[in-house]
Amino acid sequence: MRFTGVKGLHPHMQKILLTEEEIQSRVRQIAGQISSDYAGQDPLLVGILKGAFIFLADLVRYLTIPVQLDFIAVSSYGNASESSGAVRILKDLDQSIEGLHVLIVEDIVDTGLTLNYLRENLRAREPASLKVCTLLDKPSRRLVEVKIDYNGFVIPDEFVVGYGLDYNGHYRYFRDIMVLKREVYAR
Ligand code: 5GP
Repeated sequence: MRFTGVKGLHPHMQKILLTEEEIQSRVRQIAGQISSDYAGQDPLLVGILKGAFIFLADLVRYLTIPVQLDFIAVSSYGNASESSGAVRILKDLDQSIEGLHVLIVEDIVDTGLTLNYLRENLRAREPASLKVCTLLDKPSRRLVEVKIDYNGFVIPDEFVVGYGLDYNGHYRYFRDIMVLKREVYAR
């Protein structure tokens, strides 16, 4: 297990939830499913910035089909560890998605509010199909029902960081996914 520049468990972390090896093996499996489901369809993968950037980068390199990529950046109003439900697009897609097979790639679905908003927003642009792939799912916190087509891991109600996920911009670079100590975000 590697920690970039840090030996042992980082002092802000309570524990490792998912190791690099577990994550990579699951991402490879999901890529296999997507490759067979979308064979011949040249899908457009839409990464949700910033959290999904590492997941998406690994995912596309395990795929065995051609894909296109685009990115959308959203911010939910609220503080860093609680989402308020209102979503704002900070950076929109560069291209039209009308008639394309679109797969949203998200880091984590928590209350479901962000994904619900994005699904509706992208659906209105009339893609040929619209599905969702998320690395993590925290179903215990769901406020709105959202359909997830590909899910990496169901996780408990803990605030996690690493593998692209941050807290106030920190910890994204870790290869493992870890539970952040409550005292770090409660202070
Ligand atoms: P939702 O709208 O589903 O409540 O929240 C989705 C967004 O909240 C995610 O894309 C992510 O940015 C953030 N989020 C929710 N839970 C966590 C978590 O445990 N850790 C981190 N780092 N972000 C989270």
